[in-house]
Amino acid sequence: MDEEVRKKLIEAGRILKQAAYEAAEKIAPGVKILGVAEFVENRIIELGAKPAFPANISINSDAAHFTPKRNDDRVFKEGDVVKLDVGAHIDGYIADMAVTVDLGDNTELVKASKEALDAAIEIARAGVSVSEIGKAIEEAITNYGLKPIVNLTGHGLLPYITHAPPSIYNYATEKGVTLEEGMVIAIEPFATDGVGRVGERSECEIYSLLNPRPVRMKMAREILKEIEENYKTLPFAKRWLKKAPDIIISKLAREGILRAYPVLTEVSGGLVSQWEHTMIIEEGGATVTTK
Ligand code: MN
Ligand code: MN
Repeated sequence: MDEEVRKKLIEAGRILKQAAYEAAEKIAPGVKILGVAEFVENRIIELGAKPAFPANISINSDAAHFTPKRNDDRVFKEGDVVKLDVGAHIDGYIADMAVTVDLGDNTELVKASKEALDAAIEIARAGVSVSEIGKAIEEAITNYGLKPIVNLTGHGLLPYITHAPPSIYNYATEKGVTLEEGMVIAIEPFATDGVGRVGERSECEIYSLLNPRPVRMKMAREILKEIEENYKTLPFAKRWLKKAPDIIISKLAREGILRAYPVLTEVSGGLVSQWEHTMIIEEGGATVTTK
C-alpha cells in the first residue's frame, strides 16, 4: 500500500477514535441526541478530518441509519441501548467505527457484539475467507444465547465510498471472498435478542448522491450543487444542507438521483448492540486504524 494512503487511513482512524470516545462520554439520560451528533461531527473537523457520513445514533431496536433531524429535541432515556456509529475521512480515505453505550442493564448484549468483533479481528489477515470471519462472529454471539443480525454486514472501504465489496456477513456463509493484502475493511457485528433481521422504517434523514443528472427546478439544482461540492458520493444528513425541503429531497430520491438510507430497525423489536472497527489487511494480521 502507498505510504501516503496508509498515513491518511491511520490519521483518519486516530481522529475518529478520539472524537467517538469523547462523544460516547456525553451520552446520558436527558441529553439531546442532536447535541451529541453535532459534537462528534464538529470534533472530527476540529481534529483535522471530515465526517465520512452523518453520526448514526441508533437506539434500542433501531440498528442503523438513525440521525437526528434539524432542530430535533429528542433525548436519550434511562435504559437505552445506544449505538454511536461514526466515520471520518482524509481526502476520501475513510475510517468507520461504532461503539455501544448501555444506559440500562444490557451487559451481555453489549459484550456479545464486542467479543464478536475482537474474535473477527483476531483472525483477519490476507488469505482468510470472509466466511471464516462470519463464523467467528456468529459463534461469539450465539455463545450468549443471542443472534447476529443477518442482513447487516461489514464491508470494504474505497476512497469516497463507504460501502465497497466485499460484504462481510455476521454469520458463517458457505463461501466467501478471500481477504487480500492492502484491502481496507470495516467489520461490524450486531447482536440482538430478537429474530436477527432488520427492515426499513419510514424515518429517513440520510441520503447520498447516486446518479446525478440535470434537473429543472432551481432549488433542486442548488441542492445538488451543494451536495456535489461538499459530500461527493459520501452520505450526508438533511440537516447538513442549507435548505432541504422534504418534498424536493423525496422527489430526487424517487427519481434515483439520491439514494435514501431509511432507519433500519430489528423486525421483531429486539434490542440491538453493535461494535465496529476499520482495518488494513496485511500478510500477518490486520492493522486496526480505529483502535
Ligand atoms: Mn459504521
Ligand atoms: Mn460500516
